[in-house]
Amino acid sequence: MEGGTRVFSRSSLTGRLMNWSMQQEQLKVQLFRLIDVLPALDEPREVARHARDYLGGADGELPWVMRAGLEAGAKVPAILSFAARLGVRQMANNFILARDAGAAIPKLVRLREKRLTFTADILGETVLSETEAQKYQERYLRLITQLADAAKNWEDIEQLDSDDRGPIPKVNVSVKISALYSQIKPAAPQDAIEHLSERLRPILRLAKARGVFINFDMEHYALKDVTLALFKKMLEEPEFAGSRQLGIAMQAYLRDCARDMLELIAWAAGRGQRVTVRLVKGAYWDTESLMARQREWPSPVFDLKHETDANYEAVAALMLGHPEEIGCAFATHNVRSMAACIARAEALGQPPGSYEIQMLYGMAEPIKQALIDMGHRVREYCPVGEILPGMSYLVRRLLENTSNEGFLRATFSKERPVTELLADPRKAQGAEPVAWPVPPFRNEPHTDFTRSEARTRMQEAMTVMRGELGKHYPLLIGEREVRTDDEKLSINPAKPSQIVGVLAQAGVKEADEAIAEATAAFPQWSRTEADARAKIIARAGDLIAAARFEFAAIEVFEVGKTWAEADADVAEAIDFCRYYAGEMRRIASTTYSVPGELNLHHYKARGLAVIIAPWNFPLAILCGMTAAALVAGNCAIIKPSEQSAVIGARLARVFRDAGVPPGAIQLLLGSGATVGAYLVEHPDIALIAFTGSKEVGLKIWEAAGRTRPGQTQLKKVVCEMGGKNAIIVDTDADLDEAVPGILASAFGYQGQKCSAASRLIVLEPVYERLLERLVDGASSLRIGSPEDPANMVGPVIDSEAYERIKAMIEAAKGYAKLAYSAPVSESQGYYIGPTIFRDVPADSALAQQEIFGPVLAVMRARDLDDALTIVNGTQFALTGGFFSRSPRNIERVKREFDVGNLYINRGITGALVARHPFGGHKMSGGGTKAGGSDYLLNFLLPRVVTENLMRRGFVSPATEGQRPDS
Ligand code: NAD
Repeated sequence: MEGGTRVFSRSSLTGRLMNWSMQQEQLKVQLFRLIDVLPALDEPREVARHARDYLGGADGELPWVMRAGLEAGAKVPAILSFAARLGVRQMANNFILARDAGAAIPKLVRLREKRLTFTADILGETVLSETEAQKYQERYLRLITQLADAAKNWEDIEQLDSDDRGPIPKVNVSVKISALYSQIKPAAPQDAIEHLSERLRPILRLAKARGVFINFDMEHYALKDVTLALFKKMLEEPEFAGSRQLGIAMQAYLRDCARDMLELIAWAAGRGQRVTVRLVKGAYWDTESLMARQREWPSPVFDLKHETDANYEAVAALMLGHPEEIGCAFATHNVRSMAACIARAEALGQPPGSYEIQMLYGMAEPIKQALIDMGHRVREYCPVGEILPGMSYLVRRLLENTSNEGFLRATFSKERPVTELLADPRKAQGAEPVAWPVPPFRNEPHTDFTRSEARTRMQEAMTVMRGELGKHYPLLIGEREVRTDDEKLSINPAKPSQIVGVLAQAGVKEADEAIAEATAAFPQWSRTEADARAKIIARAGDLIAAARFEFAAIEVFEVGKTWAEADADVAEAIDFCRYYAGEMRRIASTTYSVPGELNLHHYKARGLAVIIAPWNFPLAILCGMTAAALVAGNCAIIKPSEQSAVIGARLARVFRDAGVPPGAIQLLLGSGATVGAYLVEHPDIALIAFTGSKEVGLKIWEAAGRTRPGQTQLKKVVCEMGGKNAIIVDTDADLDEAVPGILASAFGYQGQKCSAASRLIVLEPVYERLLERLVDGASSLRIGSPEDPANMVGPVIDSEAYERIKAMIEAAKGYAKLAYSAPVSESQGYYIGPTIFRDVPADSALAQQEIFGPVLAVMRARDLDDALTIVNGTQFALTGGFFSRSPRNIERVKREFDVGNLYINRGITGALVARHPFGGHKMSGGGTKAGGSDYLLNFLLPRVVTENLMRRGFVSPATEGQRPDS
């Protein structure tokens, strides 16, 4: 094989860069990040700044050309900018065939002259809206037409245009499924398949008419089952049944791959249908394995490269063993894998033309040539598109080419013995999976609704809970269940005629009774060993986990959460129980002793705690505050929100069932203004844990500060309130990431999260482009009942919220420009569609007051100074976000954006216990961090006991380790 000892020829800039970057792992990352952001930069000065930020710290290690470039760039940015852009363009030209079909055609002709055939792939931005999906469909239609027209003039080349069964299409197009529908939801695969079929049919119809082959590409694992089901569905439609011009890619790095292949073979056999499968290894290994780890889901991919290689060979053998069902396309650059496929085919008596080999455009040229010479049909995967939208593709290729694991790199750049390169992957030894640090606390995984068992469990739970709608819920006071004459209904905001539960209402009398019970229970509960209390609270977490789908289902009915949002709330409740149990054990006591003196630093419970919670995280917040109070030894009287009282009542039972004594956990349902306020003011209450609005929070803060007759202690108030959370979008932000991050943060759960984004501050140069994509994205969000998992936007909580939000929107029309307001077609329910205002004055109500609904105020900033002034210019400091690819700006924003929780380059909602301790300051809260290591201290009083152990010269045995009050 020719090709020297390097992957890339030394003569090209790309070649030199890549050969060099293979040696410098750390710098490589910086360099690729720079390459990633370059096309998004307009100004030479910006290019120079980014180049310095990414590479400046390492100039000792840079090749002299780059060092010189950086220095020149500091003086004359235009030169550096020009050179850098040219470099990226050159690099992109290595991997991207052409910018459009017109430019691609002559290049394809040249490929055919070299006896190479192709599949064309369209590069583009991530599809975030239906407008964009529509455009993608049109691009595919155009590409098919143009290529088919051109192909009319192409002469038949037997090696390329026929297989052992006859002629095959000259034109082959690869279609990315994710590009055809923007609202694919894991929990609603059927909905995705319906929409995707609609978009695909015209493409397949045209391809059929023009004799073009269509291959379904395989992307992220979350889309795998949908893609397979869609592929089969299309071939089951009479119009396309029996077609030999459809193929699909399958990924050998997936643990499911062999099983899926067997299913596909059985399906094909059952229908007498032959399909082509492109077997690849898979291009998203890092994302798949990292995301799975972050979510605590089993990893869908093999951990080790040689496992993937071995699976590749096994699945290839399976394919070759079923020639009537599967047409084989082996896509790999690994010579060993390729050789294994060829050898297997030979052993089965299948000639080279009966299967094909596929490789990426711009890679492994000598290998391609050798295969062609051996008589194989070699197909190149040729991306067509502009560089900027194709950047993620380009960077993926660069990474692949320079990764330590890559066969190509091993083949060409290192002197590795041939025997090692060609070794049987099943016999590979010594490699161990990467050891990841084990975090001290593990979050309860969210449910993976792409799994059909999970969807079935949720549907079943919804059916069970539907049967429980309308139940009566009494108060729990001591051992008694207390019914009251006065009762209140909790209703489904998506269907106001549906009663979710009928709730007893506590008044002053019931509050007094509960306080008496709690006072009686306190001595015993507070002296229960910390470890015993922790066990009980952890058990409460386990009980919630055992009923997690039922809890999630009731949230769908009572507060209008979508499946995924409800599931996340339940998981957080479980986390709070387990986390605070662990924390209580950790901090139970410490000693600082010197010889002859014992010092015991420990904590005692504060006393009677009132827990006042909001409805928007109806289980998690109530549960977290309650678990913290209880595990610390306080007696808790809980007052759930009126709008989520059924969930609150069910939670109280969980704590009882877990073993909390009746006097230590009591349930008072009722109005905040009456029973809530009464409890807050009561002289016997030591602690108030409140989460809710600023208005109510400030009242409580004040009321708790007033000393009443008979009061013997200072009241402690844990107070978490609202926000006016902002996201800043920098000039160089990756809009493919920013737009979905903003949409989810602003409109997830209808904007009714304390962490929701309600202000968007965009730097001037990207303002219009971002707004355009944002509005398109917002207009694509599905609005409707949360019972249907295909919907993303449900109703707001009640009629009062509905009226209030509507009124704010109306008023805002007077001083800001309405950029978008989603129409709502639901005939009942409190639906308000996502609403976006642009050019909002920074001092207006829309920009200053918490609205707590799906309303986003967009503002323009001149520069980062201006943006920071705007974001910090409210009373609140809860969450905030920043999208940027400038290391320097990121560092600055970390320092200067004044919020409790700041998120960089991701959405700003969805804080996880322990990973993202949550809470704000200024008028957003008292600085306590729920789910953080210092949270429990708010529920405790610290004490130190010092004991002199000396008795007339001898040291008495210590009562060491014993808490004096246990
Ligand atoms: P809310 O303030 O109206 O009600 C919260 C709770 O306070 C309810 O249980 C209510 O019955 C009770 N209450 C009302 N008046 C009272 C009074 N005078 N005395 C004692 N209790 C009284 O808030 P909400 O509408 O339920 O929740 C939405 C608000 O909560 C938003 O402002 C949101 O930002 C905030 N929130 C903050 C966080 C956070 O962690 N910072 C989390 C979730 C929600």
